[in-house]
Amino acid sequence: MKIDLHSHTTCSDGALTPEELIMRAQQMQLDVLAITDHDTIAGIAQAKAYLEKTSNKLQILSGVEISTRWHGYEIHVLGLNVDEQDEVFLGRLQTQQQKREQRSQSIIEKLQKAGIDIELSEVKSRAKGVVSRGHFAQVLVSKQICAHPQQAFTQYLGKDKKAYATPKWIDLATSIQWIKEAKGQAVLAHPYHYDMTTKWLRRLLTEFSAAGGEGMEVQHTNLAKAKHDLMVELAIEHKLLASVGSDFHAPSRWTELGKRLQLPDTILPIWHDWTHLTRPA
Ligand code: AMP
Ligand code: MN
Ligand code: MN
Ligand code: MN
Repeated sequence: MKIDLHSHTTCSDGALTPEELIMRAQQMQLDVLAITDHDTIAGIAQAKAYLEKTSNKLQILSGVEISTRWHGYEIHVLGLNVDEQDEVFLGRLQTQQQKREQRSQSIIEKLQKAGIDIELSEVKSRAKGVVSRGHFAQVLVSKQICAHPQQAFTQYLGKDKKAYATPKWIDLATSIQWIKEAKGQAVLAHPYHYDMTTKWLRRLLTEFSAAGGEGMEVQHTNLAKAKHDLMVELAIEHKLLASVGSDFHAPSRWTELGKRLQLPDTILPIWHDWTHLTRPA
């Protein structure tokens, strides 16, 4: 069973349209793919409509990656199997999108203050859906202000850098509540990427679990073995189920759908009781 529970489309900062993402997932022979765009579920209906026209074993799951704030960190929470028809949930995601709009304007002001000639319209023309800092990075690279996206983050867009605008995301517990009320499962995204000590990570996992979070990502295509082992240990310690995802944004040398996402037998996967999967995991 090849399963990937974290991916992006052009509805946020992914490079592939929902249709192209499905095509690629089929090429990679995935059995299950969750689409988890930043603060939107706009791509899921499109992807499912496309899948219906093809005959393939692939199953698409609804998902979303919600931006939250916790003690000054930007923490991402995946909502898996959320109800796509839930109007309350859709309205809540809209409020996050409005916050993105406000943050985008603040980033532009800060970039201009730093002497960079850039308009919001240039950034928006790159985004087909929700705007993320990834789009800002693309524009900075295309204008040859930065050599590569990573540099755009270390110089301008990353936390406390020249054009960092503190976002007003909802708090961690609220995101979990939203996901649960939309009948989904809350999974902590990429805990190994938060640049926090293991002591803080334990604190995060304790609060995440107490607020109703059910799982955490423990595996990623490029995750070092020692980090993966630590994540598995922490998940078991906090009674969290294991999730896996490539966080696919675009085809590249380093990322691919479904690549190197195996789990050890010692931990229960988040999908262990998903009756809607047509094949046993
Ligand atoms: P946002 O959700 O608008 O805060 O933007 C976060 C997104 O920016 C992530 O999902 C990545 O796609 C991208 N990103 C974050 N950090 C980096 C980085 N260091 N280099 C390149 N892209 C990054
Ligand atoms: Mn992204
Ligand atoms: Mn993320
Ligand atoms: Mn992601």
